[in-house]
Amino acid sequence: MTTLAPIEIECLCCGNQFESRKVVSTDSLGPVTTDLFEMAAGQQPIRYLIFTCPECGYTGVSTEEGPLDSQIKKFVEETISPRLKEEEITSGRTWEFMAIISEAKGLDDFAIGSLYLRAVWLSWLDGNAEDEPGYRRKVTDYFEKALNKDIVLEDRVYWTMYLVGEMYRRIGDEINAHKWFDKVTEMELTHPNRDFWLDLARQQKMEPKEYIREPVSVEDLKKEKRSLLKKIFRMFGSNA
Ligand SMILES: [Zn+2]
Repeated sequence: MTTLAPIEIECLCCGNQFESRKVVSTDSLGPVTTDLFEMAAGQQPIRYLIFTCPECGYTGVSTEEGPLDSQIKKFVEETISPRLKEEEITSGRTWEFMAIISEAKGLDDFAIGSLYLRAVWLSWLDGNAEDEPGYRRKVTDYFEKALNKDIVLEDRVYWTMYLVGEMYRRIGDEINAHKWFDKVTEMELTHPNRDFWLDLARQQKMEPKEYIREPVSVEDLKKEKRSLLKKIFRMFGSNA
């Protein structure tokens, strides 16, 4: 279960104060999708990790310290604020805002792709199907740039390449999906979970599945043997 507590946020961009909720504790007992969304039982913590100001749209983490760069303020006023009047601010949208603002702050392509990945997961979870393909393309764009620039940590290379393939698969671009799954299987990189990534890439090419761990109730899960789950927890237990 995910436990939340109220939090008061002061916007670094416009000074507005607003209430939200933050994560106190969470778990990894929910399903795991084949696009590597590791869910908690109950509420998903990724809804409460970043905060969007309802006045100006500035989005950040609660621990961020000011003052905010004046260029970034101007950027938010021009790029994000107008969108508040026109669009519904869904959970997926908050991660899109986070990605756009983080890019303006100079974060690297891998980090930006990872932020769009959260927008993908929440759009999928909330059934915002119209947002999903665009966000999935953002992930492939930024991850491919990051791979080309060779800035992906070695430990993350299989994760990143596999996800590019899976993003393409989930938007119905089979040619690019297969291209990237093949890259995973042809890649010769020493990695403790190499076999896992090769098997998963082969599966998603030949006989794709939507889940690595199917949705089950927490009660069922408690009765289950834990060996496979432990492996999954180890792999996805970080803030991937
Ligand atoms: Zn604000």
